[in-house]
Amino acid sequence: MPTHPPIATHGVQPLFPLFADLHGRAVLVIGGGAVARRKVEALLEAGADVTVGANGFDPGLQTLIARGVIRRRAGAFEPGWLEGAWLVVAASREPSVNRAAAAAATARGIFVNVVDDAGLSSFHLPARVRRGRLQVAISSGGAAPVLARRLRERLEAELDASLDALTGLLARERARIRRRFPEPRKRRRFFERLLDGELPRLLRAGDRTGAQAAFERALASGVPESRRGSVALVGAGPGDPGLLTMKALRALQEADVILHDRLIGPAILDLARRDARRVAVGKRVGEDHDAAQARIHALMLHHARSGRRVVRLQGGDPLVFGRGGEELDFLSGHMIPHEVIPGITAALACAAVAEVALTDRRHARSVTLLSPRGNTPLDHAALAAPGQTLAIYMGVGELESLSRSLVHHGRGADTPCVLVESGTLPEQRTLTGTLAALPALARAHNVQAPALLIIGEVAARAARAAFAGRCRDGFEAVAHAA
Ligand code: SAH
Repeated sequence: MPTHPPIATHGVQPLFPLFADLHGRAVLVIGGGAVARRKVEALLEAGADVTVGANGFDPGLQTLIARGVIRRRAGAFEPGWLEGAWLVVAASREPSVNRAAAAAATARGIFVNVVDDAGLSSFHLPARVRRGRLQVAISSGGAAPVLARRLRERLEAELDASLDALTGLLARERARIRRRFPEPRKRRRFFERLLDGELPRLLRAGDRTGAQAAFERALASGVPESRRGSVALVGAGPGDPGLLTMKALRALQEADVILHDRLIGPAILDLARRDARRVAVGKRVGEDHDAAQARIHALMLHHARSGRRVVRLQGGDPLVFGRGGEELDFLSGHMIPHEVIPGITAALACAAVAEVALTDRRHARSVTLLSPRGNTPLDHAALAAPGQTLAIYMGVGELESLSRSLVHHGRGADTPCVLVESGTLPEQRTLTGTLAALPALARAHNVQAPALLIIGEVAARAARAAFAGRCRDGFEAVAHAA
């Protein structure tokens, strides 16, 4: 005998979401103040036939009554008001009135919402994001309205205004699309490919004529517009997903394939489209750098030529100490459409974490991003000059020799330094010290990659912040012996 799997409700019964067609239907709003007015306005927007009942009405409601837009019931609530109503919204300032209305509505089998009282309500009004006809409604079942509002703010920022135009176009063309693709499966494929294609992008850019033309082409060709593959070199920032740019987020959500550095964490990868293929690239054990890079190039080429949108996701900024330059050369050389989406590089993120103003005019007029590894020689004498800030990438193994060489070339042994390990990640640690003392400190604290070292007078601020005990949780401030 077949058994039904249990329905997962995680211990709570969720509300059942509904989008109700209130056009021409009678709705009773109880209460005459500003809250009631806002509910009335929302209901009118949906075309409801609204009656408002209260002892007195605020000026906005009075105007609507006077213009005949809504009806009114004056005086104390009585159950007879519910006659013929589909819905009731109780927004009176008097809790006893709301309770009576809820009881009367429930007894008659009419849905009722009591403002700010989830327990008395048989339906809730969700937080919502609207783009014309398209709406997203959010509910926490009354458990956490602030959280729902937060999510709404996020969606407000994320959902493009052009979605309205997109919904409009699809609504207008619905009948033609149905005629062209009578079979539901084919129609669905048409929609999916249409939405993955150029059309949404053209609308986002405000090009309605171009969008309509793209639509006509797709409809005419039957096999919807074939897509050209592309590659975006995207900066993922230092690790905290909150430091992704909006463009990076959008690219992740549109990607078919993500070729990501091994160090990129799940907090960021989880933001990508659920069915995007994720491939960890970079050096494998025993593989040399050039072989790893050649593999990345081959993957970019293969997927882009197969019409996929590829995101090459790198930590920090894609053009700072990665091999982004070589990747750009490769993409241009193979005529693959591409773009670069910058990210917050480790030096800037770690400076922020340690509260170091990299170019504080009182102490420095330049900041140099540098890596002790690389093909070109470092000019240690130039780097040892005072009045400049050095931000050093990939230096954990080279700390000792770098420190010795800079001091040897004349940089003060007591120049302040800050070393940030796993900056912006939950396991972040910060060490402060002097140029001469820091390598030993790093060894003592077993500092691991990724770590970034800031050297220069400006780093004294980090030291002061640490000594003043203003460090955040997870900071480890170490005073060097004077
Ligand atoms: N493109 C990256 C840098 C790649 S090189 C960027 O723009 O940030 C890798 C080096 O970056 C690491 O060895 C480390 O020095 C630095 N780094 C990257 N992320 C870091 C982080 N979260 N905290 C500290 N250093 C980091």
